[in-house]
Amino acid sequence: DGGGNVRVVVRVRAFLQRELEKRARCLIDMDPITQVTTLLAPEDSEPAPKALKARKVIEDKQFTFDNSFWSHDIKDKHYAHQEDVYNSLGEEFLDHNFEGYHTCIFAYGQTGSGKSYTMMGTPDQPGLIPRTCEDLFERIDAAQNENANIAYNVRVSYFEVYNEHVRDLLVPVNPNKAPNYLKIRESPTDGPYVKDLTEVPVRNLNEILRYMKMGDSSRTVASTKMNDTSSRSHAVFTIMLKQIHHDMETDETTERSSRIRLVDLAGSERAKATEATGARLREGSNINKSLTTLGRVIAALADPKQLRSGKRKDVVPYRDSILTWLLKDSLGGNSKTAMIACIAPSDYEETLSTLRYADQAKRIRTRAVVNQDQIS
Ligand code: ADP
Ligand code: MG
Repeated sequence: DGGGNVRVVVRVRAFLQRELEKRARCLIDMDPITQVTTLLAPEDSEPAPKALKARKVIEDKQFTFDNSFWSHDIKDKHYAHQEDVYNSLGEEFLDHNFEGYHTCIFAYGQTGSGKSYTMMGTPDQPGLIPRTCEDLFERIDAAQNENANIAYNVRVSYFEVYNEHVRDLLVPVNPNKAPNYLKIRESPTDGPYVKDLTEVPVRNLNEILRYMKMGDSSRTVASTKMNDTSSRSHAVFTIMLKQIHHDMETDETTERSSRIRLVDLAGSERAKATEATGARLREGSNINKSLTTLGRVIAALADPKQLRSGKRKDVVPYRDSILTWLLKDSLGGNSKTAMIACIAPSDYEETLSTLRYADQAKRIRTRAVVNQDQIS
């Protein structure tokens, strides 16, 4: 059965150097048994954010998610390594892909909370994306050794949404040319897609990792040139998996297609910057449009009143931004979807906002179907 709620997990990172120097206090507690995450109120001695003080809402807050990953203190026996995150989420989602379901995992959180570390990781500590690629080809190799009647076809694409423009990350950056922005189209059968996006076939792990790195460096090149776009852009890494199975007894050939989407969202603090005035807005109100619209889409999908009205499709503002339009299926349709809420250990206000956002996402239901066709 493909109906189910969006899976929501939370991960807290270790202190960074600057937080250690400030002697920051960890405001997060996670109970490994109940999965309850507690956000502790900052102590009185610490200057509390003004806006919050005025509203008298500084208190401990508790949230329960499907999983909580304690990556704050490596010496703790409950410390969640990159491998643990993969084993408890990535692996199961890849199972679904082999069953023929589309999946989407996206990382949400403020800049510096560990989204890219969780999704991409480092060469020493690979994250969900490289681990998914590795497991994918291990499974394909094993299945092909075992069964001659099954064939696989894997393709990959990688793009980013920046300032409501889609940029293909698999096209080399040419510093002498204006970036080539792609358009979005909607197909009656497959929904919204990026027109002319590079989709490369890959035959093994090395090839897919090469494209992953190429796209990543293309993201970095642009970001150093344009004042850290990476915290403002949404990066969408997509793997298309096709399994062609020939049944010798019935002489039937069936094809299963699934899409694996792995999304590193822009820093969530940007959503609020939209409400700022002057310079920020002039900089391009579009920068945050996808993120603020994502918030509205999640709120609409999570609100049961709107579900009952039967007008759900009209109410959810997918088409108000590029990102939500492209992720329409992943957010409220044919997909098994997970959100990883990444949090910093000592930022009460931003963390509260991330946890509330994640709490709302828990209520979203999607309806995934097995994408299978008999082709002969
Ligand atoms: P974001 O992508 O959300 O802006 P990053 O993933 O770049 O944040 O993380 C910010 C910094 O924290 C990086 O230096 C990263 O290596 C480090 N970091 C994040 N999460 C972890 C973790 N779980 N363990 C160790 N270091 C982490
Ligand atoms: Mg990042």
